[in-house]
Amino acid sequence: MQVPDIIIAVDGYSSTGKSTFAKLVAKEFAFLYLDSGAMYRGVTLFAMEKGFIDAEGTIDEKALRKSLGELELHFEHGAEGTLLYSGERCIEKEIRTMEVSSHVSPVSAIPFVRNWVDERLHAFSEKGRVIMDGRDIGTTVFPNAEVKVFMVAEPEIRAQRRFDELKAKGENPDFDEVMKNLLERDYIDSHRETSPLKRAEDAYVMDNSDMTLHEETVWLRGLLQGKFGILE
Ligand code: C5P
Repeated sequence: MQVPDIIIAVDGYSSTGKSTFAKLVAKEFAFLYLDSGAMYRGVTLFAMEKGFIDAEGTIDEKALRKSLGELELHFEHGAEGTLLYSGERCIEKEIRTMEVSSHVSPVSAIPFVRNWVDERLHAFSEKGRVIMDGRDIGTTVFPNAEVKVFMVAEPEIRAQRRFDELKAKGENPDFDEVMKNLLERDYIDSHRETSPLKRAEDAYVMDNSDMTLHEETVWLRGLLQGKFGILE
């Protein structure tokens, strides 16, 4: 199936499977996959390692703003998929821990952090033919994206997916803690002032609570065929 050079924005709540879906679509239709959440996680890891987040979770915004110029984040796309680097250091594993997850939403709510990330997301997407997942891609980062998908799923299903993912990575998660973190992030992400998580008016909603990955891609194929008049 020949898909034109478009931008596909995938937004939705935490652990709805946005990145799994986006990666698969990128592979199937030869798109560049960009994970905007990884960028926010990268900034959060930087702030943690610099000691800008104290034990209570309070962020020293002034210090973070001053030091952000030192941070260089980029993706490398290889056989292992899309990996986030801070300079020469691969930080893919470090950004996925529960500790980073517990601080990332407050860090992402800071307007200058959002500007910093948005600038880079635009630079990375310069050549087009991109599928990007996040919370505000269809509303703020690429409001003119040709295709917008908004993903939702039952909280228990999302928590179970996240729990399994952390376990597979060798962490020892607590289910209730995982659930609490998801709901907290959803709340902060949807209620912040700058670019809150919400469905773009022209986004297609996918509830994948009972869908397989294969069904998800069939759903998107149908959408693309209808929208662009593509014949199989
Ligand atoms: O997608 P992921 O769960 O890795 O994103 C981590 C966090 O980054 C989200 O909970 C949200 O706080 C923030 N984020 C955001 N805007 C995006 C992508 C992620 O605020 N476009």
